Amino acid sequence: MEFLDNAVTKAKEAFDIACKKTNEVVSTQKQKFDIAAIENKRDKDYERLGKLYFELVKNSEIENAEIEAIVTEIKEKNEKIKALKEEINSSKNKRVCPQCSACAEESAAFCSNCGYKF
Ligand SMILES: [Zn+2]
Repeated sequence: MEFLDNAVTKAKEAFDIACKKTNEVVSTQKQKFDIAAIENKRDKDYERLGKLYFELVKNSEIENAEIEAIVTEIKEKNEKIKALKEEINSSKNKRVCPQCSACAEESAAFCSNCGYKF
């Protein structure tokens, strides 16, 4: 199951990033699972598209409406995947406060939660 292997790999990657104890990372892990799930559904669309196209060519029938619907679904899923990946990227460059484990910007001089000086 390539999809499951990908999901496990992505989950491990998610554990390795900074800010392990924050909700932000929990949400990043969820986002990565969401991406894997959408990619899996999109790949099924690709498969449906290929099968349908095969049938059309085999039977010399051209019915574009169904193909267009699948293409639209794939485009929508690609947009969702792109948006989720951008969200994850924008939540990078964080550090964990050694005193209270709060999440802070990499560039922050002090912890906004407890005032610890980085
Ligand atoms: Zn702190």
